[in-house]
Amino acid sequence: ADQLRLILGDQLNRQHSWFAGFDEKIVYVLMEVRQETDYVLHHAQKIIAIFAAMRAFAQELQEAGHRVHYLKIDDLQNQHGIPLNMQMLAQMYGAEKFAYQAPDEWRLDQQLSQLASDPQLPGVMVDTEHFYTSRAEVASFFSQRKQWLMEAFYRSMRVQHHILVDEKKQPIGGAWNFDHDNRKSWPGLPWEPADNRPRYDHSTLWDSVVAAGVKSFGEPQAEQFRWPLNRNDALQQLQHFIQYALPNFGEFQDAMSSKAWRLFHSMLSFALNVKMLSPREVVNAVLDAYQEQQLPLASVEGFIRQIIGWREYVRGVYWHRMPHYEDANYFAHQQALPEWFWNGETKMRCMATAISQSLQHAHAHHIQRLMVIGNFSLLVGLDPKAVHQWYLGIYIDAFEWVELPNTIGMSQYADGGHLATKPYVSSAAYIDRMSDYCKGCHYNKKLRLGEDACPFNALYWDFHHRHENLLGRNPRLGIVYKQLRQMKDDDLIALKERARYIQLHLHKI
Ligand code: FAD
Repeated sequence: ADQLRLILGDQLNRQHSWFAGFDEKIVYVLMEVRQETDYVLHHAQKIIAIFAAMRAFAQELQEAGHRVHYLKIDDLQNQHGIPLNMQMLAQMYGAEKFAYQAPDEWRLDQQLSQLASDPQLPGVMVDTEHFYTSRAEVASFFSQRKQWLMEAFYRSMRVQHHILVDEKKQPIGGAWNFDHDNRKSWPGLPWEPADNRPRYDHSTLWDSVVAAGVKSFGEPQAEQFRWPLNRNDALQQLQHFIQYALPNFGEFQDAMSSKAWRLFHSMLSFALNVKMLSPREVVNAVLDAYQEQQLPLASVEGFIRQIIGWREYVRGVYWHRMPHYEDANYFAHQQALPEWFWNGETKMRCMATAISQSLQHAHAHHIQRLMVIGNFSLLVGLDPKAVHQWYLGIYIDAFEWVELPNTIGMSQYADGGHLATKPYVSSAAYIDRMSDYCKGCHYNKKLRLGEDACPFNALYWDFHHRHENLLGRNPRLGIVYKQLRQMKDDDLIALKERARYIQLHLHKI
């Protein structure tokens, strides 16, 4: 061989031009390394999903006739770092150069560009052929603007890619978004689509991960693993979503229920983020179905916005803000995560449900991540970097380029408002409106004070009061600060005492 081609665990793009031809002199390399399992404590299912998908991908390549070298977690030759393994394999194959696809993570980008500059084994970087935009495109779009409003970027994407626009570049249906139609709570019907995702037994793989000493948390569920781990399964899941869930996606996008954890979400984030599916094919499949089946525009538009809008946008924020983005801490929040983030044992039913579900399935949908777990974390003042590491570890779809802007920026407002125009926080009323979590909760959603009062209520007012110097002039928070200013001193003091009690007794809340 004269060339190695490295494929990272989130670069399983079968459509990549690398695989269009065959060359005996090229060896494709995939590796399961401690460098990648250990940079944060991961959910067991995340480790299983990535390794199993990598193994399936390697096998597909081999069956198609490509040369592949796959290093398993328990291979004796495995050096557990990418550079050491590449040097070892280069020697083994007599390869003089290597190629790699642009990593989506800063850390790997640094490491591989350094490796590639080694004259012993020079490397070249190629595109992943996955995203709509380049790393710097979002930043250049916003270069002339003061605020990074996602909506502005999204509209330009719609026009640029001719998605749901007419010949005059105007939005189909007369509006760019239908958010006002998309804020319903779920009354219990229609029922969420049956979960027919294929199940696999990964106990052998999991045993080898454990035997190798990799630490993890969460439920491994080796016997009934549901995530699509190869392209065929992912494509089937896409079709299943379009047929059975997409029609209701828009309406119930923000709804939460303890009876139905998936509701009408696509569960495609893992397949998209490891590049088994391309965002283009997902969007095109949805547009085709819209043409053929007259799906509700609010659902179709709402879903497409997540993919061509939010997903590309947060990636642009990531590349613009790295390398220091993870240290952003606008409110100087320092509180450590309570133990129950790792076992779900809190008396707050919303937090217990969202965290237990995350531990069981390595998944929670957007509003659970943003308006339950993230909301509480911000109100109570958890250290945003610790919150970020928790999100990066627990979710099946968590890769830093998408998780970090969502956590540090959108959810914790730790960047001082780069992507959010105000902090995403609420008292109990919002959670009660959008979910059934408050029914049967230990705490009373209506009370602000006393042992039985829902912690969100006092924390909400205390948060705004204690950060008045940073938020008080935000025009979007005018009503909140007006109410605060009208509050009697005694009431405010009582609320702040209750909030302080919660912060000091977090372990038993
Ligand atoms: P659906 O609701 O079906 O949405 C469809 C697709 O749109 C998703 O698969 C995803 O690719 C994309 N999408 C939706 N919202 C976002 C968003 N805010 N940013 C980027 N893409 C989006 N998403 C991740 O993929 N990885 C993460 O690590 C991640 N961390 C998050 C952390 C926090 C604090 C928050 C608030 C959100 C996070 N998200 C993350 C965004 C979103 O919650 C998930 O993409 C979504 O829940 C995945 O489930 P789904 O595929 O069923 O999504």
